This record gives sequence, C-alpha cells and structure tokens, in this order.
Amino acid sequence: MNNNNLCPSLIIVGTVAYDAIETPFGKVDKVVGGAASYAALSASYYTQYPGIISVIGDDFNRDFLLDLENHNILLHGLEIKKGGKSFFWSGRYRADMNSRDTLATELNVLATFTPVVPDHWRRCAYLLLGNLMPSIQNAVLNQMEERPRIVVMDTMNFWIESAMEDLKKVLKRVDVLAINDEEARQLSREYSLVMAARKILDMGPRYLVIKKGENGALLFHEKEVFFAPALPLEEVFDPTGAGDTFAGGFTGYLASTGDTSFDNMKRAVLYGSAMASFCVEKFGPERLLNLTRSEIDDRLRQFINLTQFDIQLTE
Ligand code: AMP
Repeated sequence: MNNNNLCPSLIIVGTVAYDAIETPFGKVDKVVGGAASYAALSASYYTQYPGIISVIGDDFNRDFLLDLENHNILLHGLEIKKGGKSFFWSGRYRADMNSRDTLATELNVLATFTPVVPDHWRRCAYLLLGNLMPSIQNAVLNQMEERPRIVVMDTMNFWIESAMEDLKKVLKRVDVLAINDEEARQLSREYSLVMAARKILDMGPRYLVIKKGENGALLFHEKEVFFAPALPLEEVFDPTGAGDTFAGGFTGYLASTGDTSFDNMKRAVLYGSAMASFCVEKFGPERLLNLTRSEIDDRLRQFINLTQFDIQLTE
C-alpha cells in the first residue's frame, strides 16, 4: 500500500544511522540504528503511522526500511541522498553498562541536511524532536503550520558540547525534554538532579524527564516529581537506543491517548520504560522488530507489581 498521502499521528525527527557497538558481551561493526529508528519502532506499538524526518545515504540497508514500513512507519520525510554516506556512530560501554565512550561520530549526509516537512504533515499534533542537530530540530519546528499540542525533545552530550546556542533556542519551544542524568548535569552545570531540573525547567520546557538507565527515570513539572524504576532485568546486552526507545514509547503513548495531563505523563513514563526494557536485550533495534501486545502488557504488569505497596500511616 502506498502511504504517501497519510498524515502521521506523530512526527519523529532524528538520525537513521549505522552504528558500531562494543559492550562487555560482544561487538558489532555495523548495525542499523539511529535515534529516529529506535523511537519510531517503539512508538509504532502505541500509535499508528508515526512518520520519520531524517536523511540517509544510498548506502543504507533497504531491508531495514521495509521493516520500518511493516511497522506502519511513514518514510515520506526520509530523504535518501544519492552517493551519500549515512550517519555513523560508534561507542564502547564500560563494565557497568551505565556509561559509555563515544569513539566516533561521523555526520556524513547529516552535515548538509535541510529537513523538509511534507505539506500534509505540517499540522501534526505530536512532534518528537529526537536526538539530532539542534538547528535541524529548530528548522522542523519552523515548518509546522500550527504549534503541535506536545513537542518532546531529546538531545545528547555531543550537541550540548558543540551546539549549545542552537540548543537553547529549541529548548524555549518545547514542552518536554527527555535526557539522561549525565546530560542533565552537563546542561545545567549542577550536580544535584533536583537543582539541575529547576535550572532546566527555567530554560523553557514545562516537563523534564531525567533517565537514569538501570536506575529508572524522574519526571519533573513545576514543584512535582514522579519516579519510575527500571525493571530489574536478567539480561542487559546492549543499552544503545534505550533513551530513544523510551522517548518514542513515551510520546507514542501520549499521541495515542490525546491526554497531556501530568497524571497521563506519569503513565507515559512507564510505557516508555517498558519499551526501553526490551531494547537493551539485544544488539541494535532487533528486539523492537517483533514484539507482541501481550509481551508489552506483561512488562507493564511487572511495573505495576514492582511499584505497588501498602503502608498504614500513623496519624
Ligand atoms: P541512545 O543510546 O538512546 O543515546 O541512542 C543511541 C543512538 O543514537 C545510536 O543508534 C546512534 O546512531 C545515535 N546517535 C549517536 N550519537 C548521536 C548524535 N550525536 N546525534 C544523533 N544521534 C546520535
């Protein structure tokens, strides 16, 4: 079926890439990845027709594009640059798997990318500005005909270090920022995550999610804080893309419910965390390709069991 005329339920901007990954459990020299790939696959389990805006070279694996299409992910906003080389990232995880070193970031086709939001996508109500150059995130926002209901944004140390001025401009225009604890500290120059959250909320977003890997995630809004643990998993094989998978599940769930209240954002944190818990079980996005509804429900049930308890408070 040709989906070119469909309007996406959620627009996802981010990299579609090749990665080389090394973890204590193994090594792959070339696997498909990229923030938008992980986020879109994750969102596709909650909302129909998420659409990607990104760029790849004609060196990119067509089978993976078919996998995305089979998940009803719209690729009308994915430019394929003739003769170009796709974005490439390489990273090595330390023994605790919670921290990693970036070994290479090659922008390739991304360096000259000018995003074009297809005309019929410009009124989309949900926008996920996934991890990518802040100037591109801004350019996409500029093309929206109406301000989306919710704009969620992710970023990374690479952009905090190299594009802070552009990043500050985007931050002023988004509703939710979802980053990890290291990035929150780097962005705010505060060690305490509570202080960091206060400073970051002053930079623009109304909500802030701080992801702490295997230690769960915090959601901040005004004076409120919500905490969701990560599921204790038997196997963590490769954490690459967990953050993007979280963001895709979080935003996909919001788009599917249309409810942007704080209470529903809390639920979205759990839906995002459930998806991230699958992502880390295999190298690359493989685990996100064939999930079933009952597997996802099972994970959500585990979250409920993990966090429910009864306490009798004395007066
Ligand atoms: P995460 O583990 O959630 O931080 O995401 C890792 C994914 O992000 C990998 O698949 C990379 O291709 C992609 N990535 C790595 N560095 C960058 C960057 N500077 N900008 C955008 N995407 C990146």
